Amino acid sequence: MTPQQIDYHLEDFTESGYRDILQLAKSKYRFERFGTSELEPHLLWRHDVDFSPHRALRMAEIEAEEGVRSTYFVLLHSEFYNSLEAEAVKRFRTISDLGHDIGLHFDASFHAPFADQLALEDALVFEKSIVERVFGGEVGVFSFHNPEIGGALSFDADTLGGMINAYGRDLKAKYGYCSDSDGYWRFKRLSKFLEGGETYGQVLTHPEWWTPSPMLPRERVQRAIDGRAKATGDWYDDLLLRLGRHNAR
Ligand SMILES: [Zn+2]
Repeated sequence: MTPQQIDYHLEDFTESGYRDILQLAKSKYRFERFGTSELEPHLLWRHDVDFSPHRALRMAEIEAEEGVRSTYFVLLHSEFYNSLEAEAVKRFRTISDLGHDIGLHFDASFHAPFADQLALEDALVFEKSIVERVFGGEVGVFSFHNPEIGGALSFDADTLGGMINAYGRDLKAKYGYCSDSDGYWRFKRLSKFLEGGETYGQVLTHPEWWTPSPMLPRERVQRAIDGRAKATGDWYDDLLLRLGRHNAR
């Protein structure tokens, strides 16, 4: 299909669209944490935070207003944000305070190649310890970032490095899966997935794809880049103001 033939359902990817989809999900499923032993129909609702802790917090607020909990996966190697800077840490801590779980979004390609599973687990334990130290609380689950890259998906044990693997064999076998990767519904529209009668589902969203009003996917990426760039410039201007220095321009 050419891009012109794809219906991107841009209207889905807004804050109000997000609230609608949560309400649909709530009407059909319980929201459970990774590691649940619940037998009733339920969802594992997950966010891989690739680009924007700011968008992540906004989604976490909407979820808290709707009375559901999910898991936010922190990426230590993002090209778009620094997970250790104060503004990002503050947002992830607020997300945790809202009742959501924090997981590790693991970029295997940063550490690859791995001689064996032990080498992978060594890297996982290292990053788990950073996230726990910075954000507080135990990290019990991880997901691979860009799982097609770096051979990550060949490691499909249910737990690795003392964490549940979101792409583990058991989870994959038991749970239906729906993702918003690339900012549109590559496989199935989420509303259709929720109405499709799966007993258990794992839903993956990336917060940066959900904006106040409809935008094309690449525009949403640029929104995150521009927002970040402006905030960095504002931070610098504010610093010089506070220090009483000249900000020659
Ligand atoms: Zn990712």
